[in-house]
Amino acid sequence: MSVNPAPVSRNALAAVALVAATIVLVACQPAPADPVEQRPTPLLLISIDGFRHDYFELIDSPNLDRLLDEGLHADSLHHVFPTKTFPTHYTLVTGRHPGTHGVVANSMWDPERDARFSLGDRNAVGDGFWYQDGEPIWVTAEKQGLTSATFFWPGTEAKIHRLRPTHWRPYDGSVPHMERVEQVLEWAGLPEKERPDLMTLYFSRVDSLGHSRGPAAPAVLQAAEELDTELGELFEGLERLGLFDAINIVLVSDHGMTEVDIERYIKLDDYLDLSKVRVSDWGPAAQIWATDMEAEAIVEALEGAHPRLRVWARADIPERYRFGTHHRVPDVLAEADPGWMISSAPFLAQRQPPRGMHGWDPAHGEQHGIFVARGPAFTPGTRSPALRSVDVYALLAELLDVEPAEHEGSISPFAPYLVNRPEPGYERLHFDCNGQAVQARIGPNHMALHIDAYIHVLDRVSDPADSRQAFEEVDLGFWIEGDRAGGRIDGSELGTCRKTGY
Ligand SMILES: [Zn+2]
Repeated sequence: MSVNPAPVSRNALAAVALVAATIVLVACQPAPADPVEQRPTPLLLISIDGFRHDYFELIDSPNLDRLLDEGLHADSLHHVFPTKTFPTHYTLVTGRHPGTHGVVANSMWDPERDARFSLGDRNAVGDGFWYQDGEPIWVTAEKQGLTSATFFWPGTEAKIHRLRPTHWRPYDGSVPHMERVEQVLEWAGLPEKERPDLMTLYFSRVDSLGHSRGPAAPAVLQAAEELDTELGELFEGLERLGLFDAINIVLVSDHGMTEVDIERYIKLDDYLDLSKVRVSDWGPAAQIWATDMEAEAIVEALEGAHPRLRVWARADIPERYRFGTHHRVPDVLAEADPGWMISSAPFLAQRQPPRGMHGWDPAHGEQHGIFVARGPAFTPGTRSPALRSVDVYALLAELLDVEPAEHEGSISPFAPYLVNRPEPGYERLHFDCNGQAVQARIGPNHMALHIDAYIHVLDRVSDPADSRQAFEEVDLGFWIEGDRAGGRIDGSELGTCRKTGY
């Protein structure tokens, strides 16, 4: 065996090659998951699909109440357009709008790949292709050496940026709730070195019954109460493990629910030759592609066609929907008024229409979901005006102490509710804006503007010490100075607002 050292120059070359190879490896592979030494407080993210924010007031739920009383409870959670399960769940974990993360509907079409995605298509649901334009929190966590375990969450079945959660399950809606709870307790009970840092849980029954029986129907509320009992088992199990006060729990829902009726259907084929277009999604909104007809002609055919229908070419979609950019966003978007549905005569002839639906303007109050958080990171017993789902990813990253990927949300609205901050204020002011009642619910860094059936969430843009308080969100603004206020919603002025009470 030769012990002669290789010539220096060859050594140097080898070193360069090794460095180059390392760079290539670093560039091509997910960062190796070196276990981090200092683990964050475990985080459990729970979603109750279709749990509208006002259900809390309609049910007897001692366990959820405990979470509300001992944690941070937002009035509601403002989601994103469209308020559909996959788009909203993916926004919660990526901090991007559907118009950016690319999961633009539960049923979508990708014109570049000429491929369809639907929830019933297991291959599509498990294909990372559909999710690559966002980085979900479990990928962020795994990349930075943490461990994640998911008992369902849209996207967890797919390899995204070449990673999956360490533990995950293919979706099966028939898995009993208690089996899900028991698995999470098993994960939570693992020795600290193996215990997942991030866990998710997902429940769909409240949503399914909301669709079949209508929002807040007795069966829906009963399902919500049963879920409360199951969550009670979860909390008890965590207490037995000594973890209940040592875990951050973030509980959300992905949208609310609005009543629909067979009398409130708009049949698109009454106005449009459906053989000349492709409609990739139906319901509260229709996503329409110009195939054998120009987008302009589609807009022209639908504009003013029905008093409950609004239609936009892609470039004209309302700014606050933030829906324009992704290549899966259709050429034309048509949206019905809340409570109205878009369908076609052949479809309606075949199917039993639902009694509850979601998918409309995310600012509509009935489309708002829930946000509750409890654990060492949160100031107990705090209440916040409505928060935004697009900001939740930033919060999750903060809780896990990981560097967030590029996103469109902000930790700012949540920051005042984390521990070691001054007791957050909550101010509720009523205004009369030219005869229109407007309620402003104001937190330290954000506000919720309640107008008719709508709840908008705006960021504070003025210094809290200023006498004039100003708040903004794209295409929305509101200011308050003494007893006066004013603002603009979707580009139109609210007029002069006078304070009428607290
Ligand atoms: Zn849903």
